[in-house]
Amino acid sequence: MIIKDVEFGEVIVRKSPLARGIKFSVSTSGRLAMSVPKYTSDFLVKRFLNSNRKVIREKLPIKNPAEQRARDYQKKQLAKKAREYLPYRLEFWAKKYGYSYDKCRLTHANTRWGSCSSRRTISLNIGLMQVPEELRDYVILHELAHLNHMDHSKAFWAEVGEHDPKYKMHEKKLKLFSPGL
Ligand SMILES: [Zn+2]
Repeated sequence: MIIKDVEFGEVIVRKSPLARGIKFSVSTSGRLAMSVPKYTSDFLVKRFLNSNRKVIREKLPIKNPAEQRARDYQKKQLAKKAREYLPYRLEFWAKKYGYSYDKCRLTHANTRWGSCSSRRTISLNIGLMQVPEELRDYVILHELAHLNHMDHSKAFWAEVGEHDPKYKMHEKKLKLFSPGL
């Protein structure tokens, strides 16, 4: 559910049976997100928001409504670029080195560039479209190697190194970028 707030713009409210208390975070679009226990009334949500304005203002990088919309637009463009590129790039490397995966999924989490599930689905972050090509390829080769090794063991890194001899440098450089927008 989304509530409109004069100061913070659109606020995303997620009601979850697992939430213990009310927690604030920032969504990838720069909106304020609140996670609240499932049966919290809208009245309580608003009251809690009001009583925490000062903390939110000081601690969280909430964007104003115009910036939130600009983020949405930017994200859409990025997702479009990613759709037209990442699945094909993944396929290219997979074919080249004889990997077979089940599915390619595009994500936009704030924390990870990619992942590989035990069901052989490879997820790639659309934010990869904003990093240099060599780093993008490194992430893809890293996830492909997880198809054979579901850990970060020596054997795993040896396989990554076979396909990307500069993987150590790429891993380091990647830390200069953030998967979020
Ligand atoms: Zn990994």
